[in-house]
Amino acid sequence: MGLFGRSEVCVCERCGNTFDPVDAKSEYESHFNGELDWDDDYSGNTVCADCAIAESEALINQGSAIMMMNGDEDYDDDFVNKWL
Ligand SMILES: [Zn+2]
Repeated sequence: MGLFGRSEVCVCERCGNTFDPVDAKSEYESHFNGELDWDDDYSGNTVCADCAIAESEALINQGSAIMMMNGDEDYDDDFVNKWL
């Protein structure tokens, strides 16, 4: 943290941890291999990378579970029970 505000520290509204939004963005985007864009959902920098990754993975997995329920993907009982 410098006087010039180059590095900003934010507080996650979910877990209360402090984080650097620049690091959070790169951690998030590298976790999803650039398929998800931090700025689409988390540009407000109110959520840390860990919480953002957990939330996005849950949404992706819920989507897959719904596809399984609809018969659009191979059904996996454990997976559906876990995410729906
Ligand atoms: Zn958090």
